Amino acid sequence: MIVYELECHASGHRFEGWFASSEDFSRQQEGGLLSCPMCGSADVAKALQAPRLTRKGNQKGEARVPATAPALQAMTAPAPLPPQMVAMLRAAAKVQAEALKSSQWVGDRFAEDARAMHYGDKEHAAIHGRASGEEVKALIEEGVEIAPVLFPIAPPDEVN
Ligand SMILES: [Zn+2]
Repeated sequence: MIVYELECHASGHRFEGWFASSEDFSRQQEGGLLSCPMCGSADVAKALQAPRLTRKGNQKGEARVPATAPALQAMTAPAPLPPQMVAMLRAAAKVQAEALKSSQWVGDRFAEDARAMHYGDKEHAAIHGRASGEEVKALIEEGVEIAPVLFPIAPPDEVN
């Protein structure tokens, strides 16, 4: 069985009609077999339903919009960094640039050189270079004082 909300066109009476199938409804409607129980008008059609009042599916769809909107806003419009944070980062970048001026780029020899200096095999000097995650971990475990380069730098041997 299928239930339709029906409406008589003449007076706008609304009522439910039960049918075996949608084809059954169409057949009865086309054959003029449907009539309004209140006024007897045969000009009966499926009522145009106001979606938000009567259809649960649409209500769900409308509820979804406000639920996801804040998350989308957060992703597409992230809060800008506060000015004092930007100033701090700029200052830190400047400090790093100054420090690197008196530091020697050793590239992939960093772990080897840093270790050598730590154990006194090599004269201490300011160096910077590349090290893998395992190398860094090993150096720290051995007590070698190293610090990460905070801002990406272009290795001199790779700049043309
Ligand atoms: Zn009617």
